This record gives sequence, structure tokens and C-alpha cells, in this order.
Amino acid sequence: MAKKCIYCKTEIPADEVLDVCERCGHGVWGQKMYEAIKSNMKSASDSGNLMQGSITQKF
Ligand SMILES: [Zn+2]
Repeated sequence: MAKKCIYCKTEIPADEVLDVCERCGHGVWGQKMYEAIKSNMKSASDSGNLMQGSITQKF
């Protein structure tokens, strides 16, 4: 199931770790920071620290 960017409501893939699209992510954090946040979130969820779906509720 796709989810939506919290900023522009664009649909993003359900497996996207952040609830923002790439374009908004770059606008908000800058490209480098966005990529860093994403890889941090990914490794956190890969190691089981984040339950799938909990990211949506935190925002
Ligand atoms: Zn967006």
C-alpha cells in the first residue's frame, strides 16, 4: 500500500522509510542530510529497532 508525502501529498512507495517524497526531503533537509536520515532509518529498521508502520505514527 502506498503512502503519501506529509508535505505535498504525493504518493510514495510503502517501503519508503520516510513519510516525505524525495523532492520535499531535499527541500527540507538538503540532499546529503536526506540521504543520511534515510540510511539511518533503514539500518534502524533492518536491525529491528523500528516496527514497520511506527514511523507514520510518530510524524
Ligand atoms: Zn513531497
